[in-house]
Amino acid sequence: MTVAVQCVCCERFTLRESTKFAELGLGRCALMVDRPGSFVSPNYPRQCPEYQPAPEAKAAARIEWLRVQCSEEA
Ligand code: SF4
Repeated sequence: MTVAVQCVCCERFTLRESTKFAELGLGRCALMVDRPGSFVSPNYPRQCPEYQPAPEAKAAARIEWLRVQCSEEA
Protein backbone atom coordinates (compact mmCIF):
# COMPACT_ATOMS: atom_id res chain seq x y z
CA MET A 1 0.00 0.00 0.00
CA THR A 2 1.30 3.47 -0.85
CA VAL A 3 0.91 6.16 1.75
CA ALA A 4 -0.60 9.45 0.54
CA VAL A 5 1.63 12.50 0.80
CA GLN A 6 1.06 16.23 0.49
CA CYS A 7 3.08 18.45 -1.83
CA VAL A 8 3.31 21.12 0.88
CA CYS A 9 5.65 18.79 2.82
CA CYS A 10 7.79 17.90 -0.23
CA GLU A 11 11.21 19.29 -1.07
CA ARG A 12 10.25 19.53 -4.75
CA PHE A 13 7.29 21.82 -4.04
CA THR A 14 7.55 25.61 -4.22
CA LEU A 15 5.25 28.58 -3.74
CA ARG A 16 7.87 30.96 -5.10
CA GLU A 17 7.55 30.46 -8.86
CA SER A 18 4.28 32.35 -9.19
CA THR A 19 3.14 34.78 -6.52
CA LYS A 20 -0.22 35.12 -8.22
CA PHE A 21 -0.98 31.40 -7.99
CA ALA A 22 0.60 31.08 -4.55
CA GLU A 23 -1.85 33.68 -3.30
CA LEU A 24 -4.61 31.39 -4.58
CA GLY A 25 -3.08 28.54 -2.61
CA LEU A 26 -1.39 26.73 -5.50
CA GLY A 27 2.26 25.83 -5.97
CA ARG A 28 4.59 24.24 -8.45
CA CYS A 29 6.39 20.92 -8.45
CA ALA A 30 10.03 20.96 -9.62
CA LEU A 31 9.31 17.92 -11.79
CA MET A 32 6.81 19.88 -13.93
CA VAL A 33 9.46 21.50 -16.13
CA ASP A 34 7.62 20.42 -19.29
CA ARG A 35 4.29 21.82 -18.00
CA PRO A 36 4.90 25.53 -17.29
CA GLY A 37 1.20 26.31 -16.75
CA SER A 38 0.46 23.49 -14.32
CA PHE A 39 0.11 23.92 -10.57
CA VAL A 40 -0.41 21.51 -7.71
CA SER A 41 -2.58 21.72 -4.65
CA PRO A 42 -0.43 21.78 -1.50
CA ASN A 43 -2.82 19.68 0.59
CA TYR A 44 -4.27 17.14 -1.82
CA PRO A 45 -3.50 13.60 -0.55
CA ARG A 46 -1.35 12.42 -3.44
CA GLN A 47 0.28 9.07 -4.12
CA CYS A 48 3.54 10.37 -5.55
CA PRO A 49 6.60 8.15 -6.01
CA GLU A 50 8.81 11.25 -6.36
CA TYR A 51 7.99 12.68 -2.94
CA GLN A 52 11.05 13.93 -1.05
CA PRO A 53 10.31 15.10 2.49
CA ALA A 54 11.19 18.77 3.06
CA PRO A 55 12.65 19.88 6.41
CA GLU A 56 9.86 20.19 8.94
CA ALA A 57 10.48 23.92 9.47
CA LYS A 58 10.16 24.57 5.74
CA ALA A 59 6.83 22.72 5.52
CA ALA A 60 5.58 24.50 8.64
CA ALA A 61 6.55 27.91 7.19
CA ARG A 62 4.62 27.15 3.99
CA ILE A 63 1.57 25.95 5.88
CA GLU A 64 1.58 29.12 7.97
CA TRP A 65 2.05 31.33 4.88
CA LEU A 66 -0.89 29.61 3.13
CA ARG A 67 -3.02 29.92 6.25
CA VAL A 68 -2.42 33.69 6.34
CA GLN A 69 -3.20 34.02 2.61
CA CYS A 70 -6.50 32.20 3.04
CA SER A 71 -7.54 34.20 6.06
CA GLU A 72 -6.79 37.43 4.20
CA GLU A 73 -9.14 36.36 1.40
CA ALA A 74 -12.03 35.58 3.75
S1 SF4 B 1 7.30 15.39 -6.27
FE1 SF4 B 1 5.19 14.72 -5.93
S2 SF4 B 1 4.76 15.23 -3.80
FE2 SF4 B 1 6.56 16.41 -4.45
S3 SF4 B 1 5.78 18.38 -5.13
FE3 SF4 B 1 5.94 17.04 -6.91
S4 SF4 B 1 3.90 16.10 -7.13
FE4 SF4 B 1 4.06 16.94 -5.06
